[in-house]
Amino acid sequence: MIRLPDEEVERRRRALRSQESAEVCGRCGEGVTPDQPLARGIVWSRYVHLTHGTQNVQGAMCFDCAGITIEDGGDTWLARGRWREAQRSSCEDCGRGLARMSYAAPYCSQRCRKEFYNRRRREERLSAREKMCEVCGEEFFAARRDAKTCSPACRQKAYRQRC
Ligand SMILES: [Zn+2]
Ligand SMILES: [Zn+2]
Ligand SMILES: [Zn+2]
Repeated sequence: MIRLPDEEVERRRRALRSQESAEVCGRCGEGVTPDQPLARGIVWSRYVHLTHGTQNVQGAMCFDCAGITIEDGGDTWLARGRWREAQRSSCEDCGRGLARMSYAAPYCSQRCRKEFYNRRRREERLSAREKMCEVCGEEFFAARRDAKTCSPACRQKAYRQRC
């Protein structure tokens, strides 16, 4: 393990925090509010060692650090340098404005990415339980995945029909 100087350890820690939760800018370390648009890209990079090469941390940064200005009352984002190619989009989970390169995932942080997938799984689980009763045809919400009838009465009926 290569030891980093203390101030680099601090910068890296900050970068990782922006990657995890996007609560701070991964470059300047300033706190960011949930409605503040962010740019997503490499926030910390350091040449470590001949064999280890360069270490990069992808995270979120404020528009000041990315060199992005918002014009026309927020309708246009003008970016400098490599950010010129950035796409204007928004986080799939929290909806905050997001400037990102085409290859970057559409989330402002790992927390938002996790939240997005968890919610989708929950929704899929719920929709798997929205069923139609095979006896009366009513739609119902099943307590069990394998339920086929909406009520004890319909279950009885279904049982009698089978016999
Ligand atoms: Zn910043
Ligand atoms: Zn988000
Ligand atoms: Zn029924």
